[in-house]
Amino acid sequence: MRKTNFIRTLQGRMRGLIIFSVAIVVLVAGFGSWKIRQFYNYYVDIQKSSVQLQQNLQQNFDASRLLGSIHSNLRLYMQSAEDSVLLSIRSDAQTLRKTLPEGLAKELAHLQKIIDVLSIRMKSLQENNGRVFDAEKMISRALGMNLQKIPKDLAYKLIPIVSKAKSRYQEIYVSTVMSGRIAQIKSGQAEIASCLAGVEDDLNLLSSNLPDSEKEILQGVQDAFYALDEASSTVAAIRLVTMETEREIITTVDLLKNAVAEDSLSKNESSFTLMQEGMAIAQKNILFLVVTLIFLAMLFTLTSLIISKHMIAPLVDFVALLRNLGRMMAGQHESGSSDVARMNELSSFIRDRRDEIGEVALAIKDMLINMQSISFFRKTIEADESTREIYARLARIFIEKLGLNQFVIYQKLRGQDSMEHVFSNPPELKDDLPEFSMANNCRAKRTGAVVTSYDDQYICNMFPFQDCLDHYCIPMIVGGHVIGVVQFLFTKDMPEAEKSTARDHIAEAQNFIAETLPVLQSKHLAAELEEMATKDQLTGLFNRRYLESTLDQMVAGVRRRGTNLGVLMCDLDFFKQVNDKYGHDAGDAVLMQLAQVLLNTVRNSDWVIRFGGEEFIIMLMDCEKGKACEIAENVRQAVENYKFQASGQVIKKTTSIGVTEFPASENQGIWEAIKFADVALYNAKENGRNRVEVFNTAMWEDSSY
Ligand code: GH3
Ligand code: MG
Ligand code: MG
Repeated sequence: MRKTNFIRTLQGRMRGLIIFSVAIVVLVAGFGSWKIRQFYNYYVDIQKSSVQLQQNLQQNFDASRLLGSIHSNLRLYMQSAEDSVLLSIRSDAQTLRKTLPEGLAKELAHLQKIIDVLSIRMKSLQENNGRVFDAEKMISRALGMNLQKIPKDLAYKLIPIVSKAKSRYQEIYVSTVMSGRIAQIKSGQAEIASCLAGVEDDLNLLSSNLPDSEKEILQGVQDAFYALDEASSTVAAIRLVTMETEREIITTVDLLKNAVAEDSLSKNESSFTLMQEGMAIAQKNILFLVVTLIFLAMLFTLTSLIISKHMIAPLVDFVALLRNLGRMMAGQHESGSSDVARMNELSSFIRDRRDEIGEVALAIKDMLINMQSISFFRKTIEADESTREIYARLARIFIEKLGLNQFVIYQKLRGQDSMEHVFSNPPELKDDLPEFSMANNCRAKRTGAVVTSYDDQYICNMFPFQDCLDHYCIPMIVGGHVIGVVQFLFTKDMPEAEKSTARDHIAEAQNFIAETLPVLQSKHLAAELEEMATKDQLTGLFNRRYLESTLDQMVAGVRRRGTNLGVLMCDLDFFKQVNDKYGHDAGDAVLMQLAQVLLNTVRNSDWVIRFGGEEFIIMLMDCEKGKACEIAENVRQAVENYKFQASGQVIKKTTSIGVTEFPASENQGIWEAIKFADVALYNAKENGRNRVEVFNTAMWEDSSY
């Protein structure tokens, strides 16, 4: 990881942004919740006070209603003086006790007291009103009682005076004393007085000419009028005080009404004030909310811009770059933009971005370079001819690119059970390596899994350097078969840091090994195919085709060395009989055994080739002059002495051999020599079989070829 300035890294920027945003949100949330709590408290207060206000207003309304009822009942009572009305006034006053606002108890007590006073006065008014009626009756009685006694003349004069005065009096009494207001009562009293004075004058005028007996009658009437006057004056006086009491009651009721109204007003006012405060706070909070929302929106925009600038935009650039690189990897070349230019683009992107995206780009660049080198490696080994070349190239990668200096490459031999080392570094290592005549003795080959002493020091008992080296063995697996093993070696006292680097390098080495596998497989298959084409399947000897393909090379060697080539053309005698007598399988068995007899009789450097059917050609390499005939005789004897085993039988066979030596002359062609050997063979057959004939030119002339 490159050293990067904390705040320049993407993580640093994002962390800063997140811390800033969280701090702002916490601040806003804290302040907001405090504000909301404040607002909520006010809301609760307002709610409580509005309930209280409603109750109070209800009480005040009840009180007002009761006071109104008292007022109107008072009017009724003043007119009717009925006890039931008084009773309801009293009960209303009693109920008021519960509904009046506090502090009005004294006034209420006073109201109740004056209601009592009023009731007493009304009683006395009624009583005195009765006295007025009595006095009126007394006048009528006084007049009626004396009417027979008085002379007719007098009666005629007296009756109109009395009845006029009486009706006048009644009219005034009813309209003023009984039902008028204070001033009317007072003027009514004066009118009654003048009315009575008028009666008195009329009676006096009348009595001046009357005898004394009649004067007495008039005096009786006069006295009845005096009694009426006295009674009505008393009634008027009582009515005046009653009305004063009524007025006082009304005043008190009004006072209470005002007090109730004032109380309502003040409570309304306090509630209104509270509501106004609440509204002001709500307004402030709404303002706060709006400002907060604007602020948060700005914060969000800022955050988005930062994320977009530092993350999304570079990612978009990076993706475009990756697309181009992808095209480059896929081999799609655009005009005007080379692979180098694209890699340079990536490098400059990495230089400009010293953050995590830059880190990713750097990792991708490393990966691309690795892939390129792996791809180059694959292309190179594909063009290599032999597996050994491939191993050598792989070894160079281990040493030069990955710094893995100690290793051995083992290869399983085709068609055999053994495994041999094909490359070791350092080369002298190979002197101490174990032989794997049984490939499965190698644990990595047997299990097909990585075998390392890092897991268990003694995991492999074939490993010869257990005391001083650690090993890491990677099997090379192709098509489910282990075709070889790469063994890396490390000194035991390697420091931990180096070990970890080595492990990384082994992982990379495995990538390169994996690249070699398909190529090795194809080489392996090609070799197998070639073998199939050049080797005879029955005997395992090279076939005529192989001979044809290598003949020129063989001849060039012989000519270069200035030696001779002995050419032996062998043909079993009467071989057809074997097939006929023992069957074709027995014939095959005889041919297989014959191949071994031929191989065993000549040198390893000589070539034994199945030329066709039961005909074999033996090329004796670097043969001394004249020696070919001797060797041919050895071959003939070996076949003659050999006991072929087939179908549980011992079969004896002989062979005829035609011999020639090459080059017979400077310009002789090899095919001519082969022809000569064939001619000699023909002669051997002709001359009785089971014999060796050396070619001479006479044969050629004699032959029918
Ligand atoms: P001669 O002594 O004249 O060579 O007699 P011969 O019977 O050996 O010669 P001929 O050419 O008449 O017969 C060769 C026989 O070899 C014919 C063929 O059936 C047999 N033969 C050729 N190739 C094979 C083979 O691969 N397996 C078997 N079993 N027989 C073979
Ligand atoms: Mg033959
Ligand atoms: Mg034959």
